[in-house]
Amino acid sequence: MKAMAITYSIVAPIYNEIDNLSELYRRVSEVMESSSETWELVLVDDGSTDGSTEKIRELAEADQRVRPVIFARNFGHQIAITAGWDYARGAAIIIIDADLQDPPEVILELAKKWKEGYEVVYAVRAEREGESWFKKFTAAVFYRLIYSITDVKIPLDAGDFRLMDRKVVDVLRTMRERHRFPRGMSAWVGFKQIGVEYKRAARYAGETKYPFKKMLRLALNAITSFSYFPLQVATYFGFASASLAILAIPVVAFLRLTGSQFFEGQATTLISVLFLGGVQLISLGILGEYIGRLYDEAKGRPLYIVREAPEE
Ligand code: UDP
Ligand code: MG
Repeated sequence: MKAMAITYSIVAPIYNEIDNLSELYRRVSEVMESSSETWELVLVDDGSTDGSTEKIRELAEADQRVRPVIFARNFGHQIAITAGWDYARGAAIIIIDADLQDPPEVILELAKKWKEGYEVVYAVRAEREGESWFKKFTAAVFYRLIYSITDVKIPLDAGDFRLMDRKVVDVLRTMRERHRFPRGMSAWVGFKQIGVEYKRAARYAGETKYPFKKMLRLALNAITSFSYFPLQVATYFGFASASLAILAIPVVAFLRLTGSQFFEGQATTLISVLFLGGVQLISLGILGEYIGRLYDEAKGRPLYIVREAPEE
C-alpha cells in the first residue's frame, strides 16, 4: 500500500511527558483537522521512564497518523528533534514542544506564511507565561550573547518551534554534527525565512526537563558550533598581557633607579602569577571544550539509537 502524500509532519520530542500526551494529541489533531490537509504526528520518545513510551504506542495504535520513534535511551532534546527530521515524511515539518508551551493553533499561522513562499517560518516568543524570572532572564541573556558572538544571525527569542519546508529539512539532514543547536543550524542554511510572533503558554503538565545544567550545555553547544570567539579571546588576552609586561619593564627599571619602593615585596609577584595562571587554565579549558567536541565527531558514532521506529 502506498502512503498518501503528507502535507504536514508535526514533530514532538518527548521526555517523560505522560500527562501531556493525550492533550497534545487532542489539540494537534483538532487544529490539523480544521486545515483539511493530510498530516502526521511524529512522537520521538527520548528515553522516557514514566510510561510515556506505552502511551505513545497506544496513541499510534488508535490512529495511524501517529508515528512513534522510540529511542534506546535519553539522547537529549536536540537529538530527538534530529530524529524527527529523519522520520518526518511531510512537505512541511513543524517542531513543537510536547508540553503545549507552543500552542498547536499557531501551526496554522506558520503554515500560512509557508504557503506565501517562505521556507523557514520560526515562531518568536513575544510573551512567556508561567516561567520563572530566572528562566526568562537567562534566556534573554543567552539569545543576545549568541547573537553577538556568532557568525550566524540566529533570530532573537525564537526557540525550536518552527515550520520548515521539505527542502530545508533535507539539507539539515545532511548535517550530522553531534553537538547540535537546531535553531542555529536552521538559520545557517539560509533560504527564505520569516518570524511569526506568538504568546508562549505555560506548561500544561509536569515540570521543565531543562535544569540549569542542561541550559548551560545547550549554550556551550550553541557557541562552539557557531563561533571561534572563545578561542580568540585567549589570543587577545595573550597580546594584551604581553604588551603590558613589555611596557612595564622600563617603568619598573626607572622606579628602581630612582629608589622608589613602589614595586617591593612578594605580593605583587604572587598576584600576577596567580592571575596569569588562572587565565591560562581558563584558556586550556576553552581549548578542551573544542577538542572534546572534535573527539566526539571523530568517533563517528550514530547520533541516536532507535529501539522501535516506523518502517519506511
Ligand atoms: N525533551 C527531550 N529530551 C530531553 C529534555 C527535554 O526530548 O532530554 C523534550 C521535552 O519533553 C519537551 C521539549 O523537549 O517536549 C522541551 O523541554 P522542556 O519543556 O522541559 O523545556 P523548557 O520549555 O522548560 O525550556
Ligand atoms: Mg517546555
